[in-house]
Amino acid sequence: MLNETTHDLDDLPGTLSDPDLMPPLEVAIYRNSEKQPFGDSKESYLVSLASGSVNYWFSFVSDPLTILFFLFWEAVVLRSSILILSLSFGGGLLSWSLLEYVFHRWVYHKGQTPAHVGHEKHHETPEALIAMPWFMVTAVMANLWYVLACRLQFHFILSFVAGSLTGFVFYGLVHHVHHHLYFKNQRYRKLRVHHFIHHQYTDVNFGVTTRFWDHVFGTTYRKELKKRAPADGTHLLIDECKLP
Ligand SMILES: [Zn+2]
Ligand SMILES: [Zn+2]
Repeated sequence: MLNETTHDLDDLPGTLSDPDLMPPLEVAIYRNSEKQPFGDSKESYLVSLASGSVNYWFSFVSDPLTILFFLFWEAVVLRSSILILSLSFGGGLLSWSLLEYVFHRWVYHKGQTPAHVGHEKHHETPEALIAMPWFMVTAVMANLWYVLACRLQFHFILSFVAGSLTGFVFYGLVHHVHHHLYFKNQRYRKLRVHHFIHHQYTDVNFGVTTRFWDHVFGTTYRKELKKRAPADGTHLLIDECKLP
C-alpha cells in the first residue's frame, strides 16, 4: 500500500549505503558463477533465440515499425478521430506502466514459461543481450491487427496497443541503459539502483521504468532485507564507476 516505507540511495544494501562512497561508488554488477554459463546446450530453443544480439537489436526496429503501422492504419484506413486516437494512445502508454510490473512480478518470476526461463538468464548474466524473440511480438501484434482492425474494424484498439507497445520499447531502452550505460542524474540513479537491488533480492523492486507500482503493492526494498542473504548463488560485486 501507499504507506510502505520507501528507501532511496541512503538505504541501499552493503557498502552502497555508505554516503562517503557515493558518488563515485554506485554501480553494482551481479554475476552468478555457480550456475551454468549462458548458452548451455540444454536451454530451450526459444531462449537461445532470445539471447542473440541480432534479435535484441532488431526488436528495437520491428516494434517501432509495428507502432507506426498501427497508427497509420488507425488514422488513414479506419479514419479514426485524431483526438480520440491520441487519448487512446496515451491510455495504452500509461497502461504499460502497470503491465510492466505485472509481467515482471507474476510472469517473468513465476511459472515455467519461456519468458520465465529467459528472465532467469538475464538475472544470471545481467549484461547479456536478451530480449523476447522479435517475431513472437510481431506475430501477436499481426494477429491483433488482423482480427480486431482488419476483420472486425474496431476503432481505437490499434492506437491503444500502439501506446502499450511504445511503453514496452521504452522499458527495453531504460533496462538497457540500467545495465550498459551511466547517467549522472540523481533521480535516474535512484531508479537504476532500484533495479540493481532487484537483481540481488528478486522478490522486491519489480519496477524498471518507475518505482511507483512497488510503492503501491508494497514490494519496495526495505532495510530489514539487509539481514537476509541475497538470492542463492548470487554474488554482489561493487564496481567503481567514476563520474565523467
Ligand atoms: Zn536487469
Ligand atoms: Zn527480475
